Amino acid sequence: MTLDLASFAAERGIRYFMISFTDLFGGQRAKLVPAQAIADMQRAGAGFAGFATWLDLTPAHPDMLAVPDPSSVIQLPWQPDVAWVAGNCVMEGQDVAQAPRNVLRRLIDEAAAEGLHVKTGIEAEFFLLTPAGDQISDPFDTAAKPCYDQQAVMRRYDVVREICDYMLDLGWGPYQTDHEDANGQFEMNWEFDDVLVTADKHSFFKFMTKSVAEKHGFRATFMPKPIEGLTGNGCHVHISVWDGKGKDAKANVFASDKGQGQTGEVGLSDKGRAFLGGIMKHASALAAITNPTVNSYKRINAPRTISGATWAPNSVTWTGNNRTHMVRVPGPGRFELRLPDGAANPYLLQAVIIAAGLSGMRSNADPGKRWDIDMYAEGHKVEGAPKLPLNMLDALRAYEADGELMQMMGVEFSKAYLKLKKQEWNSFVSHFSRWERENTLDI
Ligand code: ADP
Ligand code: MG
Ligand code: MG
Ligand code: MG
Ligand code: MG
Repeated sequence: MTLDLASFAAERGIRYFMISFTDLFGGQRAKLVPAQAIADMQRAGAGFAGFATWLDLTPAHPDMLAVPDPSSVIQLPWQPDVAWVAGNCVMEGQDVAQAPRNVLRRLIDEAAAEGLHVKTGIEAEFFLLTPAGDQISDPFDTAAKPCYDQQAVMRRYDVVREICDYMLDLGWGPYQTDHEDANGQFEMNWEFDDVLVTADKHSFFKFMTKSVAEKHGFRATFMPKPIEGLTGNGCHVHISVWDGKGKDAKANVFASDKGQGQTGEVGLSDKGRAFLGGIMKHASALAAITNPTVNSYKRINAPRTISGATWAPNSVTWTGNNRTHMVRVPGPGRFELRLPDGAANPYLLQAVIIAAGLSGMRSNADPGKRWDIDMYAEGHKVEGAPKLPLNMLDALRAYEADGELMQMMGVEFSKAYLKLKKQEWNSFVSHFSRWERENTLDI
């Protein structure tokens, strides 16, 4: 049964709804709607001038409506008179094809038509910085190997405890928080779920973390490489495919005992291997989505960080329980894609995983050889594995050259995305940098 938002507001003392949608650049946009107006909005949606957001619409387009999906509603734990709800973008009665949540919903339906239900868990790393965003917030957090630093995590206890309490209250099943591998960096983990739920939680987690950090006088960032020389913000995705949605899921298709799962080289079934094969095949192209900004390419293919390792991949390779490759199979029935970073759009990230994975399953794609080596030390031994794109333009070109992935993500979406991202690249390269003066002045 569909939740009635007006009754939900009355029961919980909610005064405002924040009807939110995510644009192509991952920006979250919202209108605040008083609870007394929510009944109409739940039916008709909240109106937006689409051109004012990054959705590749013109000023002449009719109003875009964000129609709330009541199943996503969350009362803000830090501001309980407000509730956030994800909206689906509609224009003149049609889904806006390029809107990220619609791209994901379409792919979820495609997979479901084949009896496949993807479930994922994400690890959205972040830094706590000073309000200006140019330094880490804790002046004592200076260790060369700061990962799991007990003293440093307790100096930010007020922030991470508050976020973790909220996740507990929301029933997300959080189970650990730690100081990560860069000074100023943290990670908080909660339980995996159906991809749409994970994407909504991912959006909400970013909103919540930024809001709580601001409340404590800090600034949280998910930027892929906010501080030169330190490990960047990854957003690893753990992936499995099931035979049903939500509580209807009974069997993990990746852990089936057919194929290599129980007997072979790692705990992945034949179907799991084929899904992985799709990820491997489309990896360079899907980087345009999983690593969507100029700064993303300072995290992957990066030189060694102060801690000794970047923990980010540089080539399209997979392995068992080893964190130096693009894909790690940590145990039976799932694999971890380590490529995505904190700039990835929560909806497009999940969408592109389904697109590549489905393509792999349909063609029974071979993931290729498993490499059991330290990629940072012995990467030169690998033959035939492509290097990941070196910059955003290379990734966009790889995406453009991958007709199958473009088709699966949707032609309208792909065109809109490439257009806006190429504009962004052009803006970046036309920027005159200090590096140019320092290296070219006396030539
Ligand atoms: P690590 O740091 O070792 O990569 P984390 O514990 O930080 O792993 O994150 C693991 C994520 O994977 C969590 O969100 C967890 O719920 C999720 N996960 C565990 N099992 C599965 C599974 N079968 N399918 C999808 N996600 C899973
Ligand atoms: Mg107006
Ligand atoms: Mg982790
Ligand atoms: Mg981590
Ligand atoms: Mg991980």
